[in-house]
Amino acid sequence: MDKATVAIIGRPNVGKSTLFNRLVGRRISIVDDTPGITRDRIYADVEWTGKIFSLVDTGGIDFSGKDSIVNQMIRQAQYAIDTADVILLVVDANEGMTSADEEVADILRRSNKSVLLVCNKVDNFNRKDLLYDFYKLGLGDPIPISAGNGLGIGDLLDKIVAHINVSVDIIDEETIRIAVIGKPNAGKSSIVNRLLGQERVIVSDQPGTTRDAIDVLIEHEGDRYILIDTAGLRRKAKINEAVERYSVSRALEAVQRSDVAALVIDAVEGVTEQDAKIAGFAHEKGKGLIVLLNKWDLIEKDNKTVSRYKQDIAEKLGFIGYAPVLFISAKTGQRMDKILPMVKYVFEQSSMRISTGVLNDVIREAVAISAPPSSKGRSLKIYYATQVAVRPPTFVLFVNDTELMHFSYERYLENYLRRNFGFEGTPIRIAVRARK
Ligand code: GDP
Ligand code: GDP
Repeated sequence: MDKATVAIIGRPNVGKSTLFNRLVGRRISIVDDTPGITRDRIYADVEWTGKIFSLVDTGGIDFSGKDSIVNQMIRQAQYAIDTADVILLVVDANEGMTSADEEVADILRRSNKSVLLVCNKVDNFNRKDLLYDFYKLGLGDPIPISAGNGLGIGDLLDKIVAHINVSVDIIDEETIRIAVIGKPNAGKSSIVNRLLGQERVIVSDQPGTTRDAIDVLIEHEGDRYILIDTAGLRRKAKINEAVERYSVSRALEAVQRSDVAALVIDAVEGVTEQDAKIAGFAHEKGKGLIVLLNKWDLIEKDNKTVSRYKQDIAEKLGFIGYAPVLFISAKTGQRMDKILPMVKYVFEQSSMRISTGVLNDVIREAVAISAPPSSKGRSLKIYYATQVAVRPPTFVLFVNDTELMHFSYERYLENYLRRNFGFEGTPIRIAVRARK
């Protein structure tokens, strides 16, 4: 994949690494094949409005020796010119312009690279006067930001991506967003870490980013998936339990941003109320859903175990009877390879469109088999049906009188549609409208 590179350069202490963390913090980290903690602190992938670029903090690269700061900066600038498509020269608004800034600006101007002059530590945006001095550098309008307080970051990102020509529209319609959810200790982190491949997690450990949501993009057999909010799911050894304690609201937020939710249930404990609550939320929001019954390795099995578990799930989570169940073990890896294909399948099911002709044939068939409800001598008539949306599949039935529709008949129609079309793993919505 041909990604643009954006390099951050500037004198020590102007706030390069603070800016790096700011830009990386909430964004996507791509999992690639070249891990290594030090590297991760210097390189990261950032996504903004669907464009992705590789960000380099040259402050993290050792150019030193015992050279003067100016000479180190010159080498830093040279490195950026050689490797980057866009260069961010960071200066300190409070300190004002220095001769080192001027020397580096000279070199950058002659390089014909896209350079953005980033004026950091403008903690108060009423103090734009701090910028005037920097016009002298001849690198265009200084862009005010406060990396420390997170001011001006969105505008800066807009300007960065405007300079990126290679359009890597990596997060397209086809990218499937997955939220891994479930109660504490169900095995969510173990599953996520295994999905990412133990050594391939590039979520950054920089201070300040710990609590931010980090979405990780992975590729599997040519398909792209985003694991939402892996920050809460990182290897436990590294994180502070108190900070990362599983919170329902966080899980709900992840579900909201997802296409497919993967509800992890501890097989030893069975289905709990919290599981039902989260599943209910996914259902209401029209999200795809799969159930991962984890810790399958711990269960003593006979030939009825699977059906007993399915029964338990059906009883306690009856309203999501459409969700497929996988019996997995994050510990042994059993059936872990089935997760992404199943997520993809559910995504496709929830994206399915039924042509109006076929849909109406099926509805007519359903009506012929079981007559619609009637009340006081009037019976429901369904004139025609049409699918108006996907994710979730949403149907509108035009009827003579909406009052005549019963919940149970709607349920019947839903099941009939499922029998004919599948719609596995996705809720279905049916709306009735009156048509004279
Ligand atoms: P680097 O050496 O260029 O990577 O600079 P750092 O990111 O380590 O920041 C140097 C110092 O400046 C640290 O004490 C930061 O907390 C501080 N700093 C960074 N950004 C800002 C900012 O926007 N405003 C203020 N007031 N301080 C900042
Ligand atoms: P989370 O709180 O949902 O993220 O759960 P963790 O991934 O931290 O797992 C909680 C505990 O269950 C840890 O001690 C894991 O080692 C263990 N665990 C996770 N998955 C499995 C599994 O499939 N089998 C077994 N035996 N233990 C597991």
